Amino acid sequence: MTKHLVLAIALGVASLSQAATVSRSYITKTGSEISQEKGRYANPTIYIDQRACGEPSPNAMACGPSIISVGTQFLQSQETQHGNYAAKMVLAHEWGHSIQFANGINLRAPYQELQADCNGGSFIRYAVNNLGYSSFLEAAVSSARAAADYSTHGTPAQRDAFTRWGYAQGDLLKCFNNLPR
Ligand SMILES: [Zn+2]
Repeated sequence: MTKHLVLAIALGVASLSQAATVSRSYITKTGSEISQEKGRYANPTIYIDQRACGEPSPNAMACGPSIISVGTQFLQSQETQHGNYAAKMVLAHEWGHSIQFANGINLRAPYQELQADCNGGSFIRYAVNNLGYSSFLEAAVSSARAAADYSTHGTPAQRDAFTRWGYAQGDLLKCFNNLPR
């Protein structure tokens, strides 16, 4: 075996370790982690691969204060494309929408989505401070930037900035009461 081949194998292992495997237990565990930060404002049930919102293909959405619907394959693609725990950001973003539903919050575009991004950022800070995670802010920002659309979700730069702002504040109430405009 050549040195180059050994190096390639080592790199392969390293890149695999950068993407968590999304299973039902990963999703359920993430839900209970997010609940620790956000559960007093909304406590949705996470439906897995059930198209619980009636959506054509399961990716990730909230359709009311108590329903988040996600697809395992979609969340796995977030991990694979953007890095370790990108899927946790997606779930925390949807949880932010559940809080909006629970409180009748309906901001003009793109701030409804950017408020959800802020919720993603605040959860990452919570996970670092209280759950023993290394920061996955960069994976989260990469995921958010990739799904920007200039109308409902905002520009890549906006999604980047609001996710980082939520992380820097480390307080989901700031997302709801002090969101920059
Ligand atoms: Zn959203």
